Amino acid sequence: MQKGTIGVTTDNIFPIIKKFLYSDHEIFLREVVSNAVDATQKLKTLSSVGEFKGELGTLDVRVTIDKEAGTLTISDRGVGMTADEIDRYINQIAFSGAEEFVEKYKNDANAIIGHFGLGFYSTFMVSKKVEIRTLSFREGAKAVQWSCDGTPSFEMTEIEKADRGTDIILYIDDENKEFLESARVETLLRKYCRFLPVPIIFGKEQEWKDGKYVDTDTDKVINDLTPAWTRKPTDLTDDDYREFYREICPGADEPLFWIHLNVDYPFNLTGILYFPKIKSNLDLNRYKIQLYCNQVYVTDSVEGVVPDFLMLLQGVIDSPDIPLNVSRSYLQSDANVKKISTYITKKVADRLQEIFNNDRKQFEEKWNDIKLFIEYGMLSDEKFYERAAKFALLQDTDNKFFTFEEYKNMIAGEQTDKDGNLIYLYATDKTAQYSYIEAATARGYDVLLMDGQLDSHYIGMLEQKFEKCRFVRVDSDVIDNLIRKENNREVTLTAQEREAMTTVFKSQIPAIEKSEFMVMFEALGETSAPVMITQSEYMRRMKEMAAVQPGMSFYGELPDTFNLIVNTDHPLCKQVLADTDAACADAVAPILSQLDGVNAEIARLNNARKDKKEDEIPVADKEALRSAENEAADLRKKQEGVYSDYAQNNNLVKQLIDLALLSNNMLRGEALSRFVKRSFDML
Ligand code: ADP
Ligand code: MG
Repeated sequence: MQKGTIGVTTDNIFPIIKKFLYSDHEIFLREVVSNAVDATQKLKTLSSVGEFKGELGTLDVRVTIDKEAGTLTISDRGVGMTADEIDRYINQIAFSGAEEFVEKYKNDANAIIGHFGLGFYSTFMVSKKVEIRTLSFREGAKAVQWSCDGTPSFEMTEIEKADRGTDIILYIDDENKEFLESARVETLLRKYCRFLPVPIIFGKEQEWKDGKYVDTDTDKVINDLTPAWTRKPTDLTDDDYREFYREICPGADEPLFWIHLNVDYPFNLTGILYFPKIKSNLDLNRYKIQLYCNQVYVTDSVEGVVPDFLMLLQGVIDSPDIPLNVSRSYLQSDANVKKISTYITKKVADRLQEIFNNDRKQFEEKWNDIKLFIEYGMLSDEKFYERAAKFALLQDTDNKFFTFEEYKNMIAGEQTDKDGNLIYLYATDKTAQYSYIEAATARGYDVLLMDGQLDSHYIGMLEQKFEKCRFVRVDSDVIDNLIRKENNREVTLTAQEREAMTTVFKSQIPAIEKSEFMVMFEALGETSAPVMITQSEYMRRMKEMAAVQPGMSFYGELPDTFNLIVNTDHPLCKQVLADTDAACADAVAPILSQLDGVNAEIARLNNARKDKKEDEIPVADKEALRSAENEAADLRKKQEGVYSDYAQNNNLVKQLIDLALLSNNMLRGEALSRFVKRSFDML
């Protein structure tokens, strides 16, 4: 028998393993099972190159629980180890700067295990004693037993062992009894080992007999040895891909598309990514991309490895080149990982381009399900934008789809304004903005539908990317101004008429919560609507941004500002103007002449103080100016009073305003019922 001390430079690694690695205890099972699989695979390789000439026999890995003995045993029929090899691979572990590192990553068992190559030693997280019983495949090798009770000293003795391979026997400690429960162990095996390439056997298949489940003679194999991603794409049918999806995402809807990743230079990566059909936000976090390393499950947090915008995809990535056992921040700065992320982005773009080229109809049908990914990708990744710009679609309110290029060519003729800007008209709500969409299409314009979650950001980006273009929402101005062409008609109102009409209309707009109206005049021709409501593109975007960005709450608190556009060409508006003038002229005339006098006085006083400093102006003059200004304000108010009193009884004005509100879906509640009643009265 040999006794010795495990070769660590720190006094004792076991307290460290036990003390610090409290979070991820369960991964010890992954580590021992994958060691068993490695040993098995090595033997297969040696056999295939002729270095091992014996019988391979069955090469299962068996996991067994002995509750009485309190042990969990992992047995394989792989290469085994000689005493010499145990000494080299188990006893001598390089372990410098340990404490410092462990302190830093104490919550991340993966990082520690990876850093020190401590896969095997992770068993001490859950065991008070560990035994290795092993017989090497080498001719004439002697079986050995190594055992260690959680101190740095171990014992090694020769033993009798009939069969080649290794048993790792874990004497589970009192705090970790859960790992002696077969349900718990099976769950873990299914989590970490379900796609390992060597059969992992845990207990027996069961059958229903005489009112209960009983074991059959058949071994229960936990894993699928050749999961779809490890097979050649040419050997797989669509059904195979769908079936694999059901295996990893049980209960999810059929995936929309999938992408088989397969690269071996400059790094090794395989996998299958699925575009899921997302029904609600609840689905978003249900299944994630799982990361494997040679078919061993590692994690489902793939930040860094997969670009952010593809985190919503599902499926599997397998790469021995991703440094799995390191911390997240390291992962994100690793050059290899960056390359992998870039590669995945490119593959996803290529695949989408391929579907677009081969089956545009299918692509269009699924566009609304995938557009979130694509828009997010284009917003967040310049390279992806460049690729996706060739297949990203724009959908119009007529449900037709166009590429950027196709759309640009289609609207270039009609929708270029007098300055040569291409105007992209869009709607965010087909129902609410119906009348504007209709007016625009009647004019020969096309209107895009931009009702997606990211569309307001997306529009901002497209405006930057496309040359000489602007996106304008259909209801942001009257049709003539949406796309300004040459020779728009002039509004021919005098200042006095403007004032009169402004007051007449403004005074009759019903109060709408958090909304303000500005009365504006446009000469839009006799056939356009007499009164319309628009909202400036600029103000609306500011408010939309304020809603999602902190620090811009100033805009968010402002009321919505709408424009009430009065079409001065329309006969009804002309009539309002004429009626107002006829009805109010007598009452307004004396006010106006008084106002003229006061204004002249104000002008005189202002003129007198023009070149004087504040303290050189006589107090009396200051007083006079203030009172003249007050008087002017009063007169204007009086004048407004005349107009609004008149408008109060002008049903035509009220009706025109209400109709405009109505077609904008803004006439509600009391205002709506007053409108209905007034309409009946007028009939
Ligand atoms: P790693 O697997 O990263 O090499 P481990 O700590 O998990 O690190 O294992 C250390 C070494 O012990 C392995 O490289 C292998 O040589 C040996 N080993 C562990 N388990 C077995 C086993 N079941 N059969 C044969 N050799 C094993
Ligand atoms: Mg290992």
